[in-house]
Amino acid sequence: MKKSKNLLKTILLGIFGFPVIFGFAQHEVHPCHTNEKMDELKASDPAIALDMEQSRTELEEWTANFIANQYSPNDRSAIYTIPVVFHVLHTNGPENISDAQIYDALQNMNDDFNKLNSDWPLVNPAFLGIVADCQIEFVLARKKNNGSCTNGITRTYTQTTHADLDDDQVDAVYAEHGNWPGNKYLNIFVVAEASGAAGYTQYPANWNATSMSNGIKILHNYVGSIGTSNETKSTALTHEIGHWLNLAHCWGDSNEPGLAGNCSDDDGVADTPNTIGWTSCNTSGISCSSLDNVENFMEYSYCCKMFTQGQKARMHAALESNTGDRDNLWTPANLSATGVSTPEVLCAVSFTANILEICPGESVTFTDQSYNLVTGHSWSFPGGTPSTSSSANPTITYNTAGVYNVSLQATDGSSTLTNTKTNYIVVIPEVGDPLPYFEGFENLSTFPDYDRFTILDEDGDEEWDITSGASYGGNNCVYLKNSGTVQQGHWMLLCLVQLI
Ligand SMILES: [Zn+2]
Repeated sequence: MKKSKNLLKTILLGIFGFPVIFGFAQHEVHPCHTNEKMDELKASDPAIALDMEQSRTELEEWTANFIANQYSPNDRSAIYTIPVVFHVLHTNGPENISDAQIYDALQNMNDDFNKLNSDWPLVNPAFLGIVADCQIEFVLARKKNNGSCTNGITRTYTQTTHADLDDDQVDAVYAEHGNWPGNKYLNIFVVAEASGAAGYTQYPANWNATSMSNGIKILHNYVGSIGTSNETKSTALTHEIGHWLNLAHCWGDSNEPGLAGNCSDDDGVADTPNTIGWTSCNTSGISCSSLDNVENFMEYSYCCKMFTQGQKARMHAALESNTGDRDNLWTPANLSATGVSTPEVLCAVSFTANILEICPGESVTFTDQSYNLVTGHSWSFPGGTPSTSSSANPTITYNTAGVYNVSLQATDGSSTLTNTKTNYIVVIPEVGDPLPYFEGFENLSTFPDYDRFTILDEDGDEEWDITSGASYGGNNCVYLKNSGTVQQGHWMLLCLVQLI
């Protein structure tokens, strides 16, 4: 395990160096670091740089041959299904987006790649004839890499979501949820910081085909059209998936739209007019002697609504190529391994609460996160009002101080599963201890005791506990394992509390 983790880290070191494609935002273009990061990689690892160049050359040759000899663009039966997993990296802030926002994003992706987005008929009429039904669908994975159950959404409590450290972000998910190989899943990492961009990804390349880093980073407020995002940002993921399937920006292979020199660059697609690239939405704009396809998903404009037939062919070529193992994603074997082609069944009962500690008379809203195919709920709230509920996300009031269990039984119509969280909701007394307050932890038999102390353990791995192994004036302290084991002595001790 250690060896494979080190290997992953080694691979991740190179992520910034590949043609990293930065995303876009409405009315603002985020800065691009592609050239700097490519230079960094070439200086630090010429072997990977060479592998990337070879992969690009091979895929370009494959694409040209595919389009010239094999491609049948209007065969609706040939739908490429791709298993997807959203990895939400958060510190319980707004970046911890809801399941509903992710489902909305998935719907947007499927609409855009199947010509089901409601606004495509509104494109400049000159391009109506080449608006493509790309015939690519995205389905949330229902099996992890080890075959166990998932709903296609992972959540990882990690400060790395706020840091511009790409490898640490992927590592954090790996440590918490294991490996999600990039040739089995489209990994979408939802973060609070993405190198100053709205999102970025990589073109297909064999150097990292099986790595989790073979995916997409996206800011939480560019995921879907609801929650922390909005309608105009909802095409950001579509844009990044276009890159992930080997599409360049309409103005060519750079992150710098608007340069006159872009007219002489090409995006490798025959039916997208040459353009300098747009950060605004002039749908009659002409920048290189012909009408620009400003409303293309691969533009930086804020009115994107279409792929062209040529872009569709290029993406299909990428999906048929073994470059980056994109041709493994949609195989029947992989769709079975990831649970996408097998019937949905209930396999996990899970729930959260919007607050865990309240005063008497206050309410808690519970959110069901069970999966998959939940058709019924049976909640139990001892001490709560009401004390039972059959709704998915009930709100319960607690009127009496105490510590309460919460239980949810979910069903898919044929089987049931139950999850009980003990001491989950703490209702603290309205009147506390008078000041001055001293606590030496000498008379506590358990910790937390809930009357005076509760523990907010966000990541659930380590907790405070009481110990007689050290003390200030009596026998006891409370301690938090800082790192390693107790035997190694890395403790954080709290032996006396004084509030005056
Ligand atoms: Zn882009």
